[in-house]
Amino acid sequence: MEIRIVENENKGFMPKESELGFGKVFSDHMFVMDYEEGRGWYDARIIPFGYISLHPASTVLHYGAEIFEGLKAYRTAEGSVQLFRPMENIKRMNTSAERMCLPTIDEEEALEILTAFVKHEERWVPHTFGTSLYLRPYMFGNDESLGVHTVKRATFMIIASPSGSYYKEGINPVKIMIENEDVRTVRGGTGYAKCGGNYAASTRAGERANKKGYSQVLWLDGVERRYIEEVGAMNVMFKIDGEIITPALTGSILPGITRKSCIEVLRSLGYKVTERLLSVDELIEALENGRLEEAWGCGTAAVVSPIGRLMYRDVEYSVNGEKIGEVTQRLYDILTGIQWGKLPDSFGWVYKL
Ligand SMILES: *Cc1c(COP(=O)(O)O)cnc(C)c1O
Repeated sequence: MEIRIVENENKGFMPKESELGFGKVFSDHMFVMDYEEGRGWYDARIIPFGYISLHPASTVLHYGAEIFEGLKAYRTAEGSVQLFRPMENIKRMNTSAERMCLPTIDEEEALEILTAFVKHEERWVPHTFGTSLYLRPYMFGNDESLGVHTVKRATFMIIASPSGSYYKEGINPVKIMIENEDVRTVRGGTGYAKCGGNYAASTRAGERANKKGYSQVLWLDGVERRYIEEVGAMNVMFKIDGEIITPALTGSILPGITRKSCIEVLRSLGYKVTERLLSVDELIEALENGRLEEAWGCGTAAVVSPIGRLMYRDVEYSVNGEKIGEVTQRLYDILTGIQWGKLPDSFGWVYKL
């Protein structure tokens, strides 16, 4: 496929790697491609990073037709750049697009686009272990009309942001509050789609938890407020009596690529991993009986995030003496080892540029 390139004549500076945060600094260019019903995707281009203009009636502004993805480009010690299971992100983006009535993109073409864009922005991939170039592909509907229907015009973009290490101060277990007022989604809704609307609706609970000193909320299912779903914007796993339990993908949970990778790594190490419904009562009982050995969230940003304290109905419980557990640490070492090229990629997950 053909990608038009317009060079940015005003190249920016990479901040000091030790001072990189998340999502505040962007690379010099962005990828943009447009879609029209009947015509398909057209005018793929890499152009200088900058503002975009939208028609005031654009679908995304009124009806929230928006989906996104998140993945990283990693720099190995040898200096090469690689992605981690990028086809999984592309497939999930198409699943999200289908749910939100947005157009899909040919998988091979999407991979070609992603590769071309990252190669073009390669100097923005930082070198320190733990740092990366965060890639944000996203798509939105931009019909120039207020009618409600499947979008006839859309835009697909990718922006890139050099990001600092998530664990600059070491891996510290976090405090999580089990949310029993707001719900994130319901089965039949948009929970399995990575769409902006899910985030808009879940920010309130997150803010309330922050005010009380918790870093994120643990969501319960939207119907009975009984079954564990996920934590903030991460999937969640528990080690109870030696077995690893994670909520099954029932339709209201985001199917995380880190979740999938954790399950595959754990099974290869001989752990028993079960995907099933896990009620909050069962979890609290395991906590009270000392059978909950470890709990952690998992997602691209943090890889794994150990849970040190859990609050439910005004009672606070401590998990594993508020220290990172053995399984959580092993997952962190193996996944980051593969991603940054320190360990052999025995699963075939790495995509070298
Ligand atoms: C993106 C996301 C995750 C994690 O998915 P990864 O593919 O592992 O990064 C989990 N939950 C929600 C709600 C998400 O948006």
